[in-house]
Amino acid sequence: MTDLNTPIKNLPRIGEKYAKALKKLDILTVRDLLFHFPFRYDDYSQKFSIKDIPLEQDITIEGKVTDIKTTRTWKRKIFLTEAIITDDSGSIKVIWFNQPYISDTLKIGKSVRISGKATTDKNKLFFSNPAYELASRVPTNTGRLVPVYPETGGVTSRWLRWQIQMLLKLNLKLTDSLPSDLLEKLNLPLLEKAVQQIHFPNDLDRAVISQKRFAFEEMFLIQLKTLQVKSSWKKEKAVDIEFDEELVKNFIDSLPFKLTNAQKKSSFQISKDLGENRPMNRLLNGDVGSGKTIVAAMASLQTMEAGYQVVIMAPTEVLARQHFENLSKLFAGYNFNVALLTNSYKILASDNTTRPNLLKKIQSGEINLVIGTHALIQKDVRFKNLALIVVDEQHRFGVAQRAYLQQEISTINDGIKDKVPHFLTMTATPIPRTLALAFFGNLDISILDEMPAKRKKIITEIVNSKKRGLTYEFIRKEIKNGRQIFVILPLVEESKVLTEIKAATEEHKRLSEKIFSDLRLGLLHGRLKSGEKENVMKDFKDKKIDILVSTAVVEVGIDIPNATVMLIEDADRFGLSQLHQFRGRVGRAEHQSYCFLFTSSDSSKTKARLKALVESENGFKIAEKDLELRGPGEFFGTRQSGIPDIAMENITNVKLIQVAREEAQNIIKSDPELKKHPQLAEALQKFSQKIHLE
Ligand code: ADP
Ligand code: MG
Repeated sequence: MTDLNTPIKNLPRIGEKYAKALKKLDILTVRDLLFHFPFRYDDYSQKFSIKDIPLEQDITIEGKVTDIKTTRTWKRKIFLTEAIITDDSGSIKVIWFNQPYISDTLKIGKSVRISGKATTDKNKLFFSNPAYELASRVPTNTGRLVPVYPETGGVTSRWLRWQIQMLLKLNLKLTDSLPSDLLEKLNLPLLEKAVQQIHFPNDLDRAVISQKRFAFEEMFLIQLKTLQVKSSWKKEKAVDIEFDEELVKNFIDSLPFKLTNAQKKSSFQISKDLGENRPMNRLLNGDVGSGKTIVAAMASLQTMEAGYQVVIMAPTEVLARQHFENLSKLFAGYNFNVALLTNSYKILASDNTTRPNLLKKIQSGEINLVIGTHALIQKDVRFKNLALIVVDEQHRFGVAQRAYLQQEISTINDGIKDKVPHFLTMTATPIPRTLALAFFGNLDISILDEMPAKRKKIITEIVNSKKRGLTYEFIRKEIKNGRQIFVILPLVEESKVLTEIKAATEEHKRLSEKIFSDLRLGLLHGRLKSGEKENVMKDFKDKKIDILVSTAVVEVGIDIPNATVMLIEDADRFGLSQLHQFRGRVGRAEHQSYCFLFTSSDSSKTKARLKALVESENGFKIAEKDLELRGPGEFFGTRQSGIPDIAMENITNVKLIQVAREEAQNIIKSDPELKKHPQLAEALQKFSQKIHLE
């Protein structure tokens, strides 16, 4: 018996070969296939008789095959199938390339439907490569709104339609997680209807409303999760750290600069949270270079001075090391022990202790501040009295992974009984308001929307990659003046990491051998061992490298004040926020800095997009623009978040988010554990599992 959990390879028409291809689309079970939704529809619902066929318009005709033959063009070795389709009103020619098997299906005398756009050749109308199917078949590929799916090698939309239609015919039992009264209230279709209509809609309205239902469902689950985490977090106890004005004032006075008002305000909000006996749960939302580290340092300082331990987590080892160095300096005048703990470093603390030794020191409380990667709290690290966790996030974080992290944190094993640490997350790039609303509803938010003064504007230019010679000359001049350069290689899809590394390696070779053979070049990419990465970064920092060629791994937070040029190849492949991140890697000292966005695209759309970067230095504005142009899926990195595209597409839909939030609040208020909503509880649990998977 086939049910939703049946592995796809057990279906009679699929088998191992297709199962393997489908896996690339994350389709493993019948459920996955049934929930593999189209991303658009071809509208072939308009039917015409042959004599009335309009030009260049998606339509359907129905007629008899009155002639068909397949030939092979010798020159180009292409199969050419030519058919004549005839109805009461006339005839039309149809051609297909490289689909010789068509003549097996469309035999002379058969009735067929043809869907597509007719074009003309010497004033004669014909169809080229249209969709087709026998008229006796239920309209699937022609004659209706036809779904177009995300595809992969060997798996076409045509094939998917066929498979999905079979599944729909089985009338499998689908349990609706959304309460029917809620659906009714919101005018959304029941699950079974929505699944049917999202694949094979009767009309566009019904397709849209079905999409809306799924978007709502996902957003609703996100909000439920968020609210649950928030309310459970609220029930927890934390140590209250009294505000020590003297301490903070002295620290601020010791800094070589004045805090921005935004830094002061955020810091004040954080201090206030720390003073409560409930755990803080705050997001520090700020642009690159807005000075988040100092704000985190002030929170850490207060916590440590009160006698408690602090953990700071960074997304990469390189960054953890950088935080370690910066914070060690900032706290040099205090009597705190700061340690770096990651999986791969041999040197773990300021006094070169071994790992077991360090773990002992952390557990005994001798170490006050531990800096490391996320692995830090998942390992068997025990604390004496951990009271604050700071997470410096990557640009692309999983949506509810933070919530998950919090659950982990609340189970941290330490000596303060029944208390959980205060929690501060920092964004690496600003998050637009709508997104913050959608995903961080469980957090209080502090915003650093003000950049430290005296920073020079980074001169940003879009460069046609044909004109690279001039840029290289410029780079040479900068290096002569003692400066350093970043060269970033284009982003390649996640599945093609190797291509990306190859590109970086080749560019490194090309530049070292052909362009800058007299200079010192370094290469950085994700496949280097972390020790090697570390060495390259260290050499760059120590000015032993003039030009660092890198893949996007360099993206987050690396601080090289002496670097003045950020050259990005094929810049159009990156999102604006990411480019802004790269740009933020230069201009970190007094030198005038530059960002060159190379592109070989002549598209005016691309140029307009990149121009947003030339025109603005405001990360919040750029992020809004990025979101608007590429959609939140790209902005957030859908794959990592586990949120389906369809929900992602709707994240800019503030109304949807608000409704989802309100309804989630209603349910949680009357039924906090979802005892009266077992289906919903189950869906939420599945959803949570899905988004934890990294
Ligand atoms: P980010 O928010 O990107 O993490 P950082 O905390 O790394 O930014 O700060 C970027 C740089 O700006 C650091 O070198 C830091 O010392 C410096 N900085 C932070 N706050 C100020 C300020 N108020 N005035 C001047 N420089 C500052
Ligand atoms: Mg930072």
